[in-house]
Amino acid sequence: MTIKFHPDSATLMSFASGSLGEALSAVVAAHVEMCPRCAAEARRMERIGAAMFEQLAPTPMSSAAEPTAALQTMTKERPARAANRDEDTDADMPRTLRKIAGPELDRVPWRRIGIGVWHYPLPLSPGAKGDLRLLKVAPGQAMPEHGHGGAELTLLLRGSYRDEIGTFQTGDLADLDDDVEHRPVADLQDGCICLIASEEKAKFRGLMARLFQPLTGF
Ligand SMILES: [Zn+2]
Repeated sequence: MTIKFHPDSATLMSFASGSLGEALSAVVAAHVEMCPRCAAEARRMERIGAAMFEQLAPTPMSSAAEPTAALQTMTKERPARAANRDEDTDADMPRTLRKIAGPELDRVPWRRIGIGVWHYPLPLSPGAKGDLRLLKVAPGQAMPEHGHGGAELTLLLRGSYRDEIGTFQTGDLADLDDDVEHRPVADLQDGCICLIASEEKAKFRGLMARLFQPLTGF
């Protein structure tokens, strides 16, 4: 797998420091699982963050040798994900999603939301902001044009799509600002399945969007 598009460093830094929202974090975690380069970079950022934290945090004399609670949480929650891909490579559901999305992309209970477009919303913790869902698009099918409320991250899990920015293939992550409007078109042969997260609900435009919006809850 040759990955061409990665999260930008601000996104990766927020992820590594645990300050990225839950929906966006889920997408970055799935990318990091597939991308040794970002896995190494996230670990490097964590080490820097942990070292800074140790310097900044006042350490009571009695527990000088104890790792702080925050540091324990950081190291516990961030195993070396790049090494997590093992023999079950046929199951192309990212490991970090399996608890909420099931073991395989082919077994997702897709819901059709338009011609050639299916989705499966994924649950977030109670009170968590944003939106996380799997999206399946038929070959050659365009997604409705939309802008974003806040950042949006899209990770290609299978197939490919192209938009104004380029062609995104399996493992590629599109890290878009809220001023970007784009209209991805799925690969003519294979279509695509992606994991998509936004800080807010995406805002679709145009007639198709007006038809779409009440149905999808986007
Ligand atoms: Zn990467």
